[in-house]
Amino acid sequence: MTDLCCNVTSCVHNSEHCCCKTAIQVDGQEAKDKSCTCCGSFDKDQAARNATETPQLQLSVDCDATNCVYNENRMCRAEHIDISGGSAQNSESTLCATFRTR
Ligand code: SF4
Ligand code: SF4
Repeated sequence: MTDLCCNVTSCVHNSEHCCCKTAIQVDGQEAKDKSCTCCGSFDKDQAARNATETPQLQLSVDCDATNCVYNENRMCRAEHIDISGGSAQNSESTLCATFRTR
């Protein structure tokens, strides 16, 4: 489980700079730096939001960015990650700021 902060306030799953999902998917299969990663679980559609969602301090992170030192069998093993993107309007405009090249 990973401790996660997220500043993507335009995502319907964001609350108090935390994520309300219990698991997310980070994309970036060929990523050689953080700008090529993104949060694949980003959503702008209010219908995707569960009314009972509450901020999760720790969650499971599946990650395709196998060039990152924290990636182990497509799971994130970092103790803490930061997802960035501010007022991103799509998934591609977000990134995992914690990515570190192997
Ligand atoms: S962008 Fe990703 S990590 Fe951030 S709140 Fe949305 S789903 Fe969660
Ligand atoms: S720190 Fe690395 S392994 Fe963890 S989510 Fe970010 S890119 Fe993926």
